Amino acid sequence: MGHDDLEIGSIEMITGPMFAGKSEELLRRINRLKYAKKKYLVFKPSIDNRYSETEVVSHNKRSSKAIAISKSEEIYKFYTDDIDVICIDEVQFFDEGIVKIIDELANKGKRVICAGLDCDFKGDPFQISATILAKAEYVTKLTAICCVCGREATMTQRLVNGVPVSRKDPVVLVGASESYEARCRHCHIVKD
Ligand SMILES: [Zn+2]
Repeated sequence: MGHDDLEIGSIEMITGPMFAGKSEELLRRINRLKYAKKKYLVFKPSIDNRYSETEVVSHNKRSSKAIAISKSEEIYKFYTDDIDVICIDEVQFFDEGIVKIIDELANKGKRVICAGLDCDFKGDPFQISATILAKAEYVTKLTAICCVCGREATMTQRLVNGVPVSRKDPVVLVGASESYEARCRHCHIVKD
């Protein structure tokens, strides 16, 4: 097969803070793949060590079947050359190997659609998201609405017992009630 016969692959990245509708946008694109009769796979990171059938679900309860995997290389257990599109939700939670795989799939002529957070609750970029954003042909950066002032929110605020967390707080706080809010740059608080 000559180079001219090769379909041009691409990487799409849907990003933004929590509550911006990233999964909803991914599901909208998946729905269009169904209508177009494309062959596609949907992956998301597994919380335990086994892969399983699961779903991508948006806040307004739209859903699609997905395969939960714990390591990025497990994508190749399911991938076959007749697959047109590979969708990956919560991409920031995968191991670093995901970046190489996404690149390889796009280089094979596949359309790769990723969705994930760009920054953590401290406002620091997830390295995987930052790299995919740099490599992507198409970027959709969604915003949410700031819970404090109602402006456009680009950041995720983590609260423990209703109070903004500091950088020193452990990631897991036993017995505390944790919550997350979308906030704008002005209202986002990270104590040192
Ligand atoms: Zn605000």
